[in-house]
Amino acid sequence: MSDVEQAVDDAARAAVEWRSASLERRARVLREAVRVVVRRADEIAATVSAETGKPRTEALSHDLFPALDHVAWLARNFGKVLRPNRIRYSQPHLLQKRAWEVFEPYGVLAVISPWNVPFAIPFTSVATAIAAGNACVLKPSELTPACGEWVRRVLEEAGAPRGLVSVAHGEGAVGEALVAEPRVAKVFFTGSAAVGRRVAAAAGARGCPVVLELGGKDAFLVFADADLDRAVDGALFAAFTGAGQVCVSAERIYVERPVHDEFVRRFVAGAAALRPHEDVGPLITERQRAKVEALIEEAGGEILTGGRAGGGTFYEPTVIVRPASGAAIQREEIFGPVVTVHSFETEDEAVACANASEFALGASVWTRDMRRARRVARRVEAGMVWVNDFGYSYGAGQASWGGAKGSGFGRSLSTHGLRECVQVKLVDEDRGRLRPAWWFPYDDRTATALRNGLYVLYGEGRAGAAWRYRRDLLHLARRALGR
Ligand code: NAD
Repeated sequence: MSDVEQAVDDAARAAVEWRSASLERRARVLREAVRVVVRRADEIAATVSAETGKPRTEALSHDLFPALDHVAWLARNFGKVLRPNRIRYSQPHLLQKRAWEVFEPYGVLAVISPWNVPFAIPFTSVATAIAAGNACVLKPSELTPACGEWVRRVLEEAGAPRGLVSVAHGEGAVGEALVAEPRVAKVFFTGSAAVGRRVAAAAGARGCPVVLELGGKDAFLVFADADLDRAVDGALFAAFTGAGQVCVSAERIYVERPVHDEFVRRFVAGAAALRPHEDVGPLITERQRAKVEALIEEAGGEILTGGRAGGGTFYEPTVIVRPASGAAIQREEIFGPVVTVHSFETEDEAVACANASEFALGASVWTRDMRRARRVARRVEAGMVWVNDFGYSYGAGQASWGGAKGSGFGRSLSTHGLRECVQVKLVDEDRGRLRPAWWFPYDDRTATALRNGLYVLYGEGRAGAAWRYRRDLLHLARRALGR
């Protein structure tokens, strides 16, 4: 039996018992998981830093805080979100009905996760899945297996039964085998657009639903009235935290003409002052460094700072202006500490620039004019738009996460993320006292009455129609009463 088959087997066995576990039991595991993560925060953060090279501050702010906030939110709220929803009927022919929507687990879910947020992404995905009553097979990135192991370990220490969280380690082929596993009922994939599309195609071929959280090419829009100090500090963080290897990294900065030069001056000075190791960690692999270098080489334009390797897989924060039109750096996700800066003249142009990408994950708008901020936020194509801030909502349990266009579909986290983990079932109750008038046998009299019933229910002047077609209504009522 392969590792994937074994993991799915263990999860499938655990799923049978877990789907009927009380909400209180599930809540206990989630609450306890929060305690375990707090207790083991230093060990987990050290594993994140060891496997990714992230500075300790980032291990805490990118991984530990979001992981805890989401699971603490889940523990408090999942019961309310998944409570059966009473459906109320006001239609006269349905008044005798009582119905509910109930939210049922799928069974076994697969979570395939990337290396760049190696604890928070798999931990929150898996915790959401089990809160909703599922078992889960996690395939962590092959670059961060120990972080993946923490997910299982924390949840088992918190009281999750053995097998409920099963881990299958390995490269892409293991992910492929997991997606092909017929007992996996839904796939939650976070990673690159290219792999995500293959995963969706393979899952789709066997009718298996997917949620895709893919890459981005986020725009950062600075208007002339923005608090420039804050916008510059925000841009430095948005472009260079995680060495730019964050799905919502700002990769394209657009600045309104009157403040463009001043913004660039301060931004470049700030980028040059960032310290390798302490502030900006390494790129994850030599391969990623080569990819970033190739994008810069092909970009054309002017490199204002950076553009050089910083030893090993470190790369200097790099700012490019006026890249060649059509250069790949304008289209592709860079995933490195490199950003292009452009100017714009009007609000319409800023929106058009932001939307000129096949990705649509996050975006940010920097201005003191809140009416404009709201207007632009509505027009920008993205799953998340932050005003005068960047990315913080990943650390808030109640906020949804996800993209539009090429950045994926479906949502993680929040109420929406929980609902992705359940199937909706409508359950109706009828005591059987009335017999639906539209059942067999058919006859012309009934067809005419039904036709006229349309006027009574949906036409204009319904009270008049009810009087006009009272004989038809009476006919339908008699059929309903079986007379
Ligand atoms: P990746 O696509 O290379 O790998 C992601 C996961 O998929 C890994 O576990 C990998 O082993 C697995 N995989 C690879 N080939 C597979 C296949 N054929 N079938 C099934 N699984 C397969 O991504 P990465 O380099 O680990 O992560 C970086 C990417 O993830 C970036 O594009 C980034 O923007 C994106 N990302 C998105 C979000 C988001 O929330 N939208 C969050 C973090 C990262």
